[in-house]
Amino acid sequence: MKAVLVDKPFEIRVAEVPKPEIKNPDDVLIRVKYGSICGSDIGIYKGTNALATYPRLIGHEYGGVVEEIGPGVKDLKPGDVVAVDPVRACGHCYACRTNRHNVCNTVEVTGVHRDGGFAEYVVAPESASYRIDTSKVPEDVISLVEPYSIGMQVAHRGHIHEGDKVLVMGSGPIGITVMQVAKARGASVMMTDLFDSRLERAKKLGADIVVNVREKDLEAEVMAWTDGEGMPVIVDSVCIPSSFEQAVSLASAAGRVVTLGLVNKPSAIASVQLVKKELDVVGSRLNNYRFPEVIQGFEDGSLTPAGIMSSKFHFTEAEKAIKHQIDHPEQECKVVLSFE
Ligand code: MN
Ligand code: ZN
Repeated sequence: MKAVLVDKPFEIRVAEVPKPEIKNPDDVLIRVKYGSICGSDIGIYKGTNALATYPRLIGHEYGGVVEEIGPGVKDLKPGDVVAVDPVRACGHCYACRTNRHNVCNTVEVTGVHRDGGFAEYVVAPESASYRIDTSKVPEDVISLVEPYSIGMQVAHRGHIHEGDKVLVMGSGPIGITVMQVAKARGASVMMTDLFDSRLERAKKLGADIVVNVREKDLEAEVMAWTDGEGMPVIVDSVCIPSSFEQAVSLASAAGRVVTLGLVNKPSAIASVQLVKKELDVVGSRLNNYRFPEVIQGFEDGSLTPAGIMSSKFHFTEAEKAIKHQIDHPEQECKVVLSFE
């Protein structure tokens, strides 16, 4: 079968590799139909993803149709369309024992730490393969369940509820999924960015207020919208030291700050800033079994993944697709690969 391999930074190719086989009784063999490109795939391509090892069969956002099932598979059957959760955990460390498998001590993500889904076939455990009702959801959005699961995880970590005002810093794909999940939960959302084109898309997909922080003072906008209280929930998807500092400073008393940054540079935050407002400052990583909630949102229409799909390529053009995404950050949101 054909697969997309990154041999080392800046060397990507479509190569012939062995078709994977069912090894465990609970495995399913999936013919991949769609994948989507993530910032972390671009990081592997550019050599800036500290977690990746090479050579790597990339792709952690993917789904397809079940072709074969192992003897221990209970619910899935050939013909089912599934999205695959890329998170693999040990099952017995402290995080796993407390139902936080996404931060397992030895967590691995398919497409980053081990082979991924940009291939004609993948094998995955039944427990990581979630069926989608294709009478309600177009097949070409199945790979977008994973990015929305990031937004869903943020909503849980930040306790985003009906009536909350939420600031999402950054209008990239993850910012948009956070916004849509928050809106589906009945919150109101302000979003920021440096590009008007990205803010226009955010607004079109549901953001209540958008702020171009190149032109406007974010603090003034936040205080005006919240009657000077500060923002109850702030999600930092910009992820630079200064954005994290600003998130802590703009949060209201009793507020929550969720960071998505994998940044290794310190921010200057004084403890009094957390104590005085009794802030909950939390990280959010990957997703903790959020696929069913996301698929529910796709099926009932409360999440509209088609809106974040900005272009489509055949998977044999993966290099072109990745370069296109790198060259057009203001125009692209999610680039989807077709494996048909
Ligand atoms: Mn991703
Ligand atoms: Zn574990």
